[in-house]
Amino acid sequence: MEKDRGFTAATLKAAAGASLVSLARFLLPNSCIVCQRMVEQSNPDNLVCSVCCSRMRRVTGGCCRCAQPLPPVGPCRLCSDWPDGFDNVRSAVWLDREARAVVHGLKYGGFTRLGAVAAAEIRGAFSPRSAVLIPIPLGQKRLKQRGYNQSAYIARALGNAFGIPVIEDILARRRETRSQTELTPDERMINVSGAFRVDDDKNGTLEPTAAGIVEAVLVDDVFTTGATLVAAAKCLLESGWQSVSGITFARARTFADTVLAVD
Ligand SMILES: [Zn+2]
Ligand SMILES: [Zn+2]
Repeated sequence: MEKDRGFTAATLKAAAGASLVSLARFLLPNSCIVCQRMVEQSNPDNLVCSVCCSRMRRVTGGCCRCAQPLPPVGPCRLCSDWPDGFDNVRSAVWLDREARAVVHGLKYGGFTRLGAVAAAEIRGAFSPRSAVLIPIPLGQKRLKQRGYNQSAYIARALGNAFGIPVIEDILARRRETRSQTELTPDERMINVSGAFRVDDDKNGTLEPTAAGIVEAVLVDDVFTTGATLVAAAKCLLESGWQSVSGITFARARTFADTVLAVD
């Protein structure tokens, strides 16, 4: 959808809704979305300079299933209730200043090309098997407001990089959900529980096992408590998928990290 600096109806609409600062940034030539310095000539199409890219801290170690740092004693508590078949979730970088700016620009600034920046970071954390990528969908109301689904841009860039299909119309929101930003972890789970539905006709045409596709990989921008991914994974598992995993660009360190960053 985005071309050159993104002068399309959707991105202009998104920019029009942003602050004047964001609009000015939108119109300026290749300045880094994080530090506002000029992006290197060698990489004129990028929106994040190499210094800011190098400052993004990778999520490593942690629980082998959910990648969350383990408690000092005992097993991981975050993923203990996840459904069988929801195999694992990985995130590329921690939601620090640089990653937060990327998420913010991608979601609210109309900078859809940041989906490729996020995907480039994800590539190091992701080794797909025979999989399809399924971006977490927005509700119709939010999609109309924003003009695009930021997770779809990440998924498309990942799909291009790995040569694997992206399926955008198989999963939908059954209902609008409240913004998760200020909800507690338990409230988040209730908020998104049952919020997704699978299009059975489209799911049927995929015939995942017959086509040799073994895994559905959900793609989202930020992992906070995992509630959204779990709700979407449950929906896919109930519709016949045997194996679902998740990948996100950023991960909040704590619940408090998520303010301003999610939904
Ligand atoms: Zn920078
Ligand atoms: Zn875990």
